[in-house]
Amino acid sequence: MNIWTDTHCHLNHPDFAADAPQVWERARQAGVRSAIIVGYDLASSDAAVQTAQRLEGCWASVGIHPHDAVQCNRDALLRLRQLASQPSVVAIGEIGLDYYRNLSPRDVQQQASEEQIGLALDLRLPAIIHCRDAYDDLLDILARYPLRGVLHCFSGEVHHAQRAVEMGWYLGIGGVITFKNAHTLREVVQQIPLRYLLLETDAPYLAPTPHRGRRNEPSYIPLIGAQVAAIKGETPEQIATETTRHASELFGLR
Ligand SMILES: [Zn+2]
Repeated sequence: MNIWTDTHCHLNHPDFAADAPQVWERARQAGVRSAIIVGYDLASSDAAVQTAQRLEGCWASVGIHPHDAVQCNRDALLRLRQLASQPSVVAIGEIGLDYYRNLSPRDVQQQASEEQIGLALDLRLPAIIHCRDAYDDLLDILARYPLRGVLHCFSGEVHHAQRAVEMGWYLGIGGVITFKNAHTLREVVQQIPLRYLLLETDAPYLAPTPHRGRRNEPSYIPLIGAQVAAIKGETPEQIATETTRHASELFGLR
């Protein structure tokens, strides 16, 4: 059986409150042996750590999403630092910029990103970055720091992808790759070498075809991997092996 890794899911989300262990068991049955549960504010970061401790093969990431960047004050950063000392925590995120919804002012988003990048560098952890309609500003920020990580649910242009991988960043590829209208993302996957790609579901969001519009879950990773395999002209087994190895290297999964 192919061994997969889901580098970005939210089993800490209220949508999974009733059945996270069963959802994770289905994923294990599908060959998804590791997953990173990603926080997006203090409460969900705390829940990510707790959920990861309960589920074998799960790890946690802690951070404050750009939507909630206004919450990223000194106390919040201290709390993130405490949470990040837990052995299950393998990354800082999701952090970044979202100019599509602009739920926090742009300058506040930029400052919150840089403060959390500082935390990641301090703790020698990679970062999980959320970016929407802000790739130029984001890449300008990332270029200033010796940081590694993943641009989760990558949605930029090919030239953004090229600039990111030249700086050593990975691209997270999710369910969107199975959508009929995902022309730009297909081009990105075609052009960027497999060694820079990671797979993710972003569950409960963005379920791949044929589950589109319903609750997403980590057991759907093979559907995403199959689509990447088709675009790359490789076997699903190669995609599973390579992307799982990249995830283990970047996040130090054991
Ligand atoms: Zn997410």
